[in-house]
Amino acid sequence: MTDAPPLCLTVAGSDSGGGAGIQADLKTMLALGVHGMSVVTAVTAQNSLGVQGIWELPAEAVKAQYRAVVDDMGVHAVKTGILASTALVETVAELLAATSAPAVVDPVGVSKHGDALLAASALDAVRKELLPRATVATPNLDEVAQLTGVIVESEDDMRRAADAVLAYGPQWALVKGGHLAAHGGQAADLLTDGDTQLWLRAPRHDNRHTHGTGCTLASAIAAGLAKGQDVPQAVMEAKEYVTGAIAAGFALGGGIGPVDHAW
Ligand code: PLP
Repeated sequence: MTDAPPLCLTVAGSDSGGGAGIQADLKTMLALGVHGMSVVTAVTAQNSLGVQGIWELPAEAVKAQYRAVVDDMGVHAVKTGILASTALVETVAELLAATSAPAVVDPVGVSKHGDALLAASALDAVRKELLPRATVATPNLDEVAQLTGVIVESEDDMRRAADAVLAYGPQWALVKGGHLAAHGGQAADLLTDGDTQLWLRAPRHDNRHTHGTGCTLASAIAAGLAKGQDVPQAVMEAKEYVTGAIAAGFALGGGIGPVDHAW
């Protein structure tokens, strides 16, 4: 018998294509040496072409999965993904309020294909109930615009966006700059807690097979936190992991293929 590894829980949606959501989260956690556990919030019918359908689970089912896992086995870090509706955002925020484990909140709004993964009516609950519970919130530029109204076109805008996210109460904001043209071919993300500012730059790969990038990054951060790393260390190592996974992303089906966790 060996000792149990650190325990990491994803509270997120299922991607039937295996590229994003719960499936990406569990692959990431396995690759990074933590035990992955899952609370399914919604089921998507999905492939490389997009999301064909999304079905949200009842709040009661989400709560029961969470209690089953945490009350028996415990948890060292939580990651949240698709929460779909106000009811689920409020339920998960309540569960997070009652745990001392760090939480990485990926405020998923819209997929790369433009499919809505969160009801517009739930945005206010994300701002007021969920973000205050986050150790790290990881919005991309679209999510920043949705949540704060800040449109990012420069590094200065990224700083303003991060401040606007922090105003909702997470301890750290990681604003993912992704495709910001102003960065001259670099994918720059900004991590800040209001005092420390850390720019994370990685060479951009011209690989269109990037499905699951956001889920993978957030899970990798949660894995680092579960191992006891501090937030900057966990984010730096997670960025390195996702950069490798994007470089190794492969074609699948007729659309956007997944990042690869076996790189
Ligand atoms: N499907 C599920 C279940 C997800 O959780 C997410 C993102 O969090 C997506 C799809 C969107 O993934 P992407 O924008 O990388 O295509």
